[in-house]
Amino acid sequence: MTATILDGKALAATMRGEIAAEVAAFREQHGFVPAIAVLRAGEDPASVSYARQIAKSFEAAGMGFALYALPENTPEAKVVSLVKRLSRDKATSGIMVQEPLPKQVNPEAVLAALSPAKDVDGVHPVNAGLLMQGTGDYFAPATPAGGMEMLRRHGIELKGKRAVVVGRSNIVGKPMAFLLLHQHATVTICHSRTVDLGAVCREGDILVAAVGKARLIDGSMIKPGAIVIDFGVNFVEGKMVGDVDFDSAAEVASAITPVSGGTGPLTNVMLMRNTLMAARRQVADSR
Ligand code: NDP
Repeated sequence: MTATILDGKALAATMRGEIAAEVAAFREQHGFVPAIAVLRAGEDPASVSYARQIAKSFEAAGMGFALYALPENTPEAKVVSLVKRLSRDKATSGIMVQEPLPKQVNPEAVLAALSPAKDVDGVHPVNAGLLMQGTGDYFAPATPAGGMEMLRRHGIELKGKRAVVVGRSNIVGKPMAFLLLHQHATVTICHSRTVDLGAVCREGDILVAAVGKARLIDGSMIKPGAIVIDFGVNFVEGKMVGDVDFDSAAEVASAITPVSGGTGPLTNVMLMRNTLMAARRQVADSR
């Protein structure tokens, strides 16, 4: 079997167009645009590059973007007071605090200052709790939300399916597992202490990899006909590869996200969608 490629690049382009149209309608109706504030302390290269991508995609969709790039030695109190100010600022719809934060800044203190209503990256415990319960107006972290959108837009039925998620981080693995559960999949979560990872993976009609280990999962660990969502971003000899060994997996799976061009392009788009959603909720709450 040769798998269908789940093309994240094409889906992201479609969704960018949809969001740009919704932003134009929002602006027409409310007289302002949904805007994100991205805050970082220090110049971590991955954070710098991600912020650049966010700026590009938000501006292309007609959304607002403001970068607060603080020096590496910024005291915690200053970061916290900026997050508090942005949380109150009417022109800021969403806030994203980039990690890693420098060692003198406690991420918990920053989270405590962040308004859950503007937490478009879905990292605040209030959003994580609501996501776990599957109730209320929560923001799901952009990466797993993108994985779910990929499944939904390809019409992949989840109800009653066995889903195996490899990875249990708060930002990818765990929220993905709960999002799948809310769609009535039967979910197993694997991690570094899972015994016989291959046997557990082979149970999955849907197999999700969120590990950060190049090609950890190969075709022999995949159930024939499974749908494979690979969130992994790893570099091997300068080439970006996933957590799944694409070539052997594509021989067994019925559909698979490539790396690159799979789940990656959707992360940005889901951040845009969350920011638009935040702006809409803030307008509704102010009435
Ligand atoms: P973390 O390092 O926070 O979590 C990795 C998880 O993988 C942990 O739960 C860990 O288990 C588990 N793990 C590690 N080794 C093994 C193993 N040998 N077998 C089974 N499980 C294992 O990573 P993230 O969740 O932040 O990111 C995961 C991947 O997704 C990375 O490659 C990252 O670059 C990528 N990513 C991609 C994005 C995108 O837009 N596509 C966005 C964000 C991340 P334990 O808990 O026991 O330590």
